[in-house]
Amino acid sequence: MTRSALISFSGGQDSTTCLFWALKHYDHVQTMGFDYGQTNHVELNCRANILQAIRNEFPEFAERLGEDAVIDVRSFGQIAQSALTGNGEKPELREGQLPTTFVPGRNLMFLTYAAARAYLRGIHDIVAGVGEADFSGYPDCRRNTLDALEQALSLGMDYPIKIVTPLMHRTKAQTWALAHELGGDRLVNFIVEYSHTCYEGDRTHHHAWGWGCGKCPACVLRAKGFEEFLAMQK
Ligand code: ZN
Repeated sequence: MTRSALISFSGGQDSTTCLFWALKHYDHVQTMGFDYGQTNHVELNCRANILQAIRNEFPEFAERLGEDAVIDVRSFGQIAQSALTGNGEKPELREGQLPTTFVPGRNLMFLTYAAARAYLRGIHDIVAGVGEADFSGYPDCRRNTLDALEQALSLGMDYPIKIVTPLMHRTKAQTWALAHELGGDRLVNFIVEYSHTCYEGDRTHHHAWGWGCGKCPACVLRAKGFEEFLAMQK
């Protein structure tokens, strides 16, 4: 039996790592991305480049890579305004509060769209690169939220849906380590070069951990995780 999955793939470090995880664990993997009105489209460009680069550089996975779709959900941005959808606020982490990059319900919305598509494609497993560890603490990325959503979607569509989260309890360093387990230095380098994390959309400054401004919270987390990963390697 062919095992199929649909992955919510943004082009960031986490979802790129998850995409490779899915390509290792499933025979057929479809990808889905969301245009939710980001102030920049750097991530969306990166995700297209990543899919092309997998086809060129990882022929062993290319045949498992199925249909891709980018869904326009910009209307959601009209309701859920935050630093990622362009209300002028700077992305930052705030002590004891949700970060300004939190878009209420965003992940629930992504997964609901993904579930509808999965249903129509006869797929039951949705892979998402979300996690609880060393993260900004988004409540819609927690496993208990996803357990409840999984149940709501399965009941509401009368169709079993599983939300698979390989990164749930991994720190950023452990996510780099997973990439290393899956594809060695070659895959780590691939993720460094192709995936995008920077909130500022900066792809002009290059670092050991990838492209980015090096100052925004996303860059700082990515850099710190990479440093810890290198230390783990020794
Ligand atoms: Zn940055």
